Amino acid sequence: MKISKTLITEEEIENKISEIADEINAKYKGEELVVIGILKGAFIVISDLAKQLQIDVAFDFMSIKSYYGSESSGQVKIVKDLEYDISNKNVLIVEDIYDTGLTLSNLKKLLESRNPKSVEIFCMFVKKGVSQDPMDINYRGFEIGPEFVVGYGLDYNGKYRELPYLAVLS
Ligand code: 5GP
Repeated sequence: MKISKTLITEEEIENKISEIADEINAKYKGEELVVIGILKGAFIVISDLAKQLQIDVAFDFMSIKSYYGSESSGQVKIVKDLEYDISNKNVLIVEDIYDTGLTLSNLKKLLESRNPKSVEIFCMFVKKGVSQDPMDINYRGFEIGPEFVVGYGLDYNGKYRELPYLAVLS
């Protein structure tokens, strides 16, 4: 497997993060926010976003596994849980990529069961033609095709996460 082309450049990503940071700064002005990064893929987007936030913000991280298949879908195993109690807090989930949507929909349900004040979702890359309606993504970076992508936090067998751009692997 090799990188076959750059899909989204570093500059395009930087511009998009600035736009989304502006929206988040405006939305949560005067409010407290807990940003929750989903490991491992979201670590780069979180750090780029963090540097541009000018609100009262805390960061926490979670690592989960979703189960696929008809009998077990809807199940989510927590590999690493949050440190903070999010009850009565505004929460922003930051995820790397939305494919089938299973991970995010399970996670949203799980976090909503902890009685936060609000839950929003920022997903950096959203695959087009996804099987679940991606309407409840509040902030989305880029819509992409169905290809398998790496870089900007996304891996193939643990590699390529460090690339500052998004690339197609083939
Ligand atoms: P979903 O639950 O939305 O189907 O899957 C989301 C997860 O699948 C992501 O967090 C990511 O780990 C993985 N994933 C989906 N598509 C890709 C892709 O094109 N590249 C990489 N590296 N991971 C992907």
